[in-house]
Amino acid sequence: MQPTSHRLVPPEAPEKDAPEPSAGAVAWQRRRPVLVFAATILLLYPMDLLLVPAPSYPTLLTRLGWAAQMLLYAWLRRRVDGRWETVVLAVNSVLVSLFFLLLVYFTGGAESPYMNLVPSMPLMMALLQPQDTRPAILTGIASALGVMGLQWMEHHHPGHAVAWALMVGTATFFGVYGSTQFRKAQAAEDEARLERTRRESLEKAAVAERHRAQTEKLATVGRLAASVMHEINNPLAFVRSNLDFLRTEVLEQPLPEETRTELAEVFEETRTGVERIRQIVSDLKGFSRMDGEEPSECALADVVSDAARLAAMRLKHVARLKVEVPADLPEVFATRRRLAQVLLNLLVNAGDALEEAKVQGGEVRERGLAEEGRVVLLVEDNGPGFPPDVLQRLFEAFFTTKALDKGTGLGLSISRELVERFGGTLRAENRPEGGARLRLELPRHMPAAQAQGA
Ligand code: ADP
Ligand code: MG
Repeated sequence: MQPTSHRLVPPEAPEKDAPEPSAGAVAWQRRRPVLVFAATILLLYPMDLLLVPAPSYPTLLTRLGWAAQMLLYAWLRRRVDGRWETVVLAVNSVLVSLFFLLLVYFTGGAESPYMNLVPSMPLMMALLQPQDTRPAILTGIASALGVMGLQWMEHHHPGHAVAWALMVGTATFFGVYGSTQFRKAQAAEDEARLERTRRESLEKAAVAERHRAQTEKLATVGRLAASVMHEINNPLAFVRSNLDFLRTEVLEQPLPEETRTELAEVFEETRTGVERIRQIVSDLKGFSRMDGEEPSECALADVVSDAARLAAMRLKHVARLKVEVPADLPEVFATRRRLAQVLLNLLVNAGDALEEAKVQGGEVRERGLAEEGRVVLLVEDNGPGFPPDVLQRLFEAFFTTKALDKGTGLGLSISRELVERFGGTLRAENRPEGGARLRLELPRHMPAAQAQGA
């Protein structure tokens, strides 16, 4: 029983959502492709030298102008909005086509290998700015008109001019279509992400609410138990004294020897039973109280026997309890009752696991060892052990694999908290030969004089 008057189970703090990228980061994300494009324009200058007799000043100037214009565009886009943004965008789209057509012109006109790249200009614009279809369309129109102009200037067949324009048009169509699809997919993904976040926060709220209700219920049960124990104690006291009185009175009567022996046995058994009830009540009363007990030095063997006595009822039909805790272990510094509560939690868990897995010949072992500066207690069972996913979450408050009315999922988390309060640790692992092992480590108590000398 655990009245949670001092809070052991913090309500789950609402997790922070992943930080939204800042507006500056988004703007940079959008600008970056344009800057990369500008840099590429300059870096590809050596290609011109393969096409025309070096050095090629017109293409160098064209490239410089084009790169500068791209930079200007990146800079302007952040500073204008509304109608001006459309104007900047339109001018840029037309200029992109124009600069590229100039490159084509200076490297051989309609015969230039660059000619083949003209249809890719609207595609490139769609890739650079997939969030907006206008640049691709405008570049497409400007490039189509441009190639037709080039063909016309060099007196090519009008059919050629139209064919080139159609190629540019087709590329524009695919660029626009692709970027539209891209935007749609992105919108759907955003929507799904939003929905997921909303659902998660609803679930979190529900879990927190369940935890709160559970904690309150536990506190009530704890208080209830404390008062029930108190109520049982009073009648128990007079049952005990009346029993003693009856025993004396009855056995003083003249009785046949055989009846006397039998009656004495009955009284003895009854007395043992009552004594046992008294013990259990007093132990449970201790557990349900949450007063500020100060830790003090205590012998692990005593604590272990306290817990073993309490757990005996639980383990009786499921496991044999083997205690190997030497009485001469160094003392530890803890609250005896609290530590016994921790051990009881571990023993009950072992009992539950053995019962659940229907283990024949169930065995729970408590082993105490002294290690450098601390005392270690291993609580082991030959049950199923912890599956990996359970092992990870074992010490989470309210984590349980048991049915709602059987497990609260608080046993281990409270136990760890108690142990850590004494400067100890509580860890869990699977034994290599199977079964669970809980490892409790406590700092050994140092008498003041020794601690100073150390
Ligand atoms: P509860 O006992 O209320 O479920 P605990 O915090 O005591 O809560 O334990 C959490 C979970 O750890 C249990 O539900 C169980 O799945 C697992 N567990 C604890 N002890 C053992 C053990 N000895 N063997 C196997 N599983 C265990
Ligand atoms: Mg438990």
